[in-house]
Amino acid sequence: MIICDAHLHLTRKDLPKLSEWHAAGLAGATSATARYAEWAEELELTQRTPSWVRFALGVHPWYLAEAPETALEELDTLLANHPALAVGEIGLDFADGRDDRERQLHWFEAQLALAAKYRRPAVLHLRRAWDCAPAILAKYPEVTTVLHSFNGSREVARELLKSLPNCYFSFGFALANPAATRQAGAAQVIPSERILTDSDYPFQHLPDASTSSPTGLEAVIARLAELRNDSPALLAAQLTENWRRVFGKET
Ligand SMILES: [Zn+2]
Repeated sequence: MIICDAHLHLTRKDLPKLSEWHAAGLAGATSATARYAEWAEELELTQRTPSWVRFALGVHPWYLAEAPETALEELDTLLANHPALAVGEIGLDFADGRDDRERQLHWFEAQLALAAKYRRPAVLHLRRAWDCAPAILAKYPEVTTVLHSFNGSREVARELLKSLPNCYFSFGFALANPAATRQAGAAQVIPSERILTDSDYPFQHLPDASTSSPTGLEAVIARLAELRNDSPALLAAQLTENWRRVFGKET
């Protein structure tokens, strides 16, 4: 089956695995940073990977405190100098009692504004943020956004589809869990041309696996096809077309 991974985290040590994953069907992958400290290695990887691997730079809401305030200026310059770079992983996370709301909102919007400035897609991490994220995203309707490991309900999906013409919903390994009824409900109402899948490698794995691999996304696509009464092969081809539309360089 052909698979695309809209969100994972590659490091130098993963380079030998790329050909193995590619042989197993991985046709496109977008690697993102979570911490500012990872940017230099990620930029190095852009020179050492095949063209089906794309990269995003950003600071994740968990790691804002360790990033210098100059990181935003630096991101501005890097996006200007690297036309193939996307923005990510950025977002808002108000789960687990996180209380740095103002700081999160500042960084999220600043990074989103850079994605708008350079017309780049942005990969988003949103948790317990559905009360405020849609209004912020609606300020940048031109930005193509990817909601990685989407965990919103059917109602949230419908709301976002209405207000954000360029928003993609990326399902992670959680969808393969039959108990994930909220995500399953959302997966049934999103048009197939707005769906992606992501592994968040190396941080997430299938419910019945102990290690993470983007090739496990086959099970997520199979579950999506089951939920949507679709053919897995046709759906996989559609999701690949979607990944290329979002991250492909070809215009
Ligand atoms: Zn991630």
